[in-house]
Amino acid sequence: MSIRGLSTETTFRSAYRGVLIALVTMSLVVNILALTGSIYMMQVYDRVLSSHSMTTLVALSVLAAAMYVCQMLLEVLRARVMRRVGDRMDARLMPLAQQAAMRLPLAGVSGVNALQPVRDVDSVRGYLSGQGPIAFFDLPWIPIYLIFATALHPILGIMTLAGVIILIGLTLLSERLMRDRSTKVLQMSQRRQAMADENARNAEAAQVMGFADRARDRFLRQSDEMLLVSAKASDTGNALASLSRVFRMMLQSAMLGMGAYLTIKGEVTGGAIIAGSIVASRALAPVELAIGNWRGFSEARHARARLADVFDRVLRETDLTELPAPKSTLRVEGVTVLAPGTRTRVLDGITFELSAGQGLGVIGPSGAGKSTLARAIIGAWNPAAGSVRVDGATLDQWGRETLGRHIGYVPQDVQLFDGTVAENICRFESEPDTEAIIKAAVAANVHQLILRLPQGYDTRIGSDGSHLSAGQRQRVALARALYRDPFLVVLDEPNSNLDAEGEAALIEAVRAVRERGGVVVMIAHRSNALTAVDQVAIINGGRLSAFGPRDEVLRKVLRGAPGGPMGGAAPPDPPGTQQSVQPVPATAGAAAGPVTLILRNPDGKQT
Ligand code: ATP
Repeated sequence: MSIRGLSTETTFRSAYRGVLIALVTMSLVVNILALTGSIYMMQVYDRVLSSHSMTTLVALSVLAAAMYVCQMLLEVLRARVMRRVGDRMDARLMPLAQQAAMRLPLAGVSGVNALQPVRDVDSVRGYLSGQGPIAFFDLPWIPIYLIFATALHPILGIMTLAGVIILIGLTLLSERLMRDRSTKVLQMSQRRQAMADENARNAEAAQVMGFADRARDRFLRQSDEMLLVSAKASDTGNALASLSRVFRMMLQSAMLGMGAYLTIKGEVTGGAIIAGSIVASRALAPVELAIGNWRGFSEARHARARLADVFDRVLRETDLTELPAPKSTLRVEGVTVLAPGTRTRVLDGITFELSAGQGLGVIGPSGAGKSTLARAIIGAWNPAAGSVRVDGATLDQWGRETLGRHIGYVPQDVQLFDGTVAENICRFESEPDTEAIIKAAVAANVHQLILRLPQGYDTRIGSDGSHLSAGQRQRVALARALYRDPFLVVLDEPNSNLDAEGEAALIEAVRAVRERGGVVVMIAHRSNALTAVDQVAIINGGRLSAFGPRDEVLRKVLRGAPGGPMGGAAPPDPPGTQQSVQPVPATAGAAAGPVTLILRNPDGKQT
């Protein structure tokens, strides 16, 4: 099993081993150079002041200046390397994060939350490119300062060590206090973001029906709650950062005091007083830096753990043997589907088979599970039991990319992308086949309509295809479904926004797919579309209550419809009459009972 040939561990560790060694080495030199101040102080006090030698002072100053410059250059270089590590990490992880973000909605994770992997990569990159990680490269070199302080006097060494231990204790406390709070802040901020997103998407309804203010207030309540929790987390972090800063200053003064005491007792020289104080402060600096950046570190660490988890869950794929293009059957075997994140059965033991050239119309009342069946057939939702087989192979034996080439799908909400008409039809292929694009558009009878757009096939259609009308969107989506003649074409209410001409084109397109040996599954609310299919399935309460040749099934259903207008006959309506077919349970609550076919006229009257 692999994530596109990249194991998660590889992603996070081995790729950076060489860089890590370079950073640790650079940090060693930086930390040795950081002793410059202490050594210079000591030499000035102990040598220059006692000897009054200007030459020594100048020589020491030049040497110290050179060492400071080296330290500065190395620190700049180290920060640049860290930024590059952040960028490289981004370049490796962002494609996976984007891929995960597009798979999570299929697992029932809603829009904004599905973007968390992308935000997590941002968070890891942001942390790596900042000052935070520097602390971790400096921490291993604290012993350099401890040795230096001990060499000045063992008591000064012990005091520095005690200071380091106390500050590390504070860091661990910080970790304990911040862990749960950061998770809570993240969850609340996700909820807030989801609400803002929903308000923006549904602004039209909220404005015209006068509940925009209430929608805004709902958002503000969520926002206030999040800010409160976030403020508590910040307060804790800031308090610990201040405590560590003050503690460092106290230790510095204590080192001065102890140095003075030891000087008076004649155990150290005057220069050691200042040198000890500086070195103690320098020893504590990485710990203090770590505390100051603990929140960022904690967030990045959680982000990294979430990424590893989501990549393993959502992107892990078995290396698959490429199968030949399907050409004979679609088999649905005892498929049971649970609603995402619940134990509720939305589909229960559905079984049927379709052969090349057959077209199935799926009808049933609202919420019966028709769209769920479509999603199960194309592999968007995994069945909890049973399987879907194309030419005998279960969907997971095909692999997403390969299967996608053999599937055409028009979802109920169409789902177009911000790009040109041509890009949408060819599914954003990097090397699109212009002939195939036009063929698909002609097959969907949308070619002339596209030519009438301002830039024809090169017209940008806006986010979600917002520059097109609902009917135009549906027809472009049909062309995308027909691109490169896929074997399996699944259409979820493809005629809901079509006029008579569009519906006639749809019927023709379905016939053409069947004639070339494809299989069509079409969910239909309006009976006109059933003209193009030879099989009908009725889904009721998640179960298959009827399946078979179209006329036979409709005749049976209509016979069971007392006073039904069509008597024993089951002719689909001629295109353009705009009736709707809605089988509903004869008995409320019956899971798979008989169905009544209600036909509605365009004016909504039940006939
Ligand atoms: P319609 O004709 O109104 O489109 P449908 O027959 O296509 O209805 P589905 O969309 O398949 O119905 O929904 C079947 C059931 O699954 C419904 O009860 C619905 O509440 C539930 N359901 C659908 N999507 C989800 C989801 N993402 N999370 C939880 N439940 C869901």
